[in-house]
Amino acid sequence: IVNLVNQITEGMKFYDALPIIKSNKEIFRPVFTNSTLFEWTYETVYPMLVPDYRGEIGSNKRKMEIDTYKVFLVFLETAFKDESSKIKPTQIMATVTGCETVPPLGLPLKITIDFATDCKPSPDGKPCDCLPVFSTCALSILIPTHTKTLEKMEESFDKAFSMGKGFLRT
Ligand SMILES: [Zn+2]
Repeated sequence: IVNLVNQITEGMKFYDALPIIKSNKEIFRPVFTNSTLFEWTYETVYPMLVPDYRGEIGSNKRKMEIDTYKVFLVFLETAFKDESSKIKPTQIMATVTGCETVPPLGLPLKITIDFATDCKPSPDGKPCDCLPVFSTCALSILIPTHTKTLEKMEESFDKAFSMGKGFLRT
């Protein structure tokens, strides 16, 4: 590790960065020390979310999408603010963005929330039990609109994470 630090120090000398960093210690402190500056928070994530409603305004489909989005927001806020929450916000953010902390240059895109409204019961007649699907490249989460309650939302995300299912790599 010492060697690594030396290498970084040498590299910064080469680019004349070290004197600049030394004379602006406070600005560079979060880059080199543990800091909460790059931690995801509900307040930083919320403005990045864009719900992509497909149902026509006034339609039942639209209403289901809006209701699902509201539950998702409560779920997200609970994950961030309630320490006893089963779902950890870093887990959500790492899954959706691929980054456990806020990238210094921000995300390249907004995070799209899509809704699956056309789920069908399984062939054996049981109600659909599909899970949220995450796409890291497109920065999107697809949520089935039958995920109607906070409890159900937590359960489905927990299941998706623990099974390693519901991931889309495109
Ligand atoms: Zn479904």
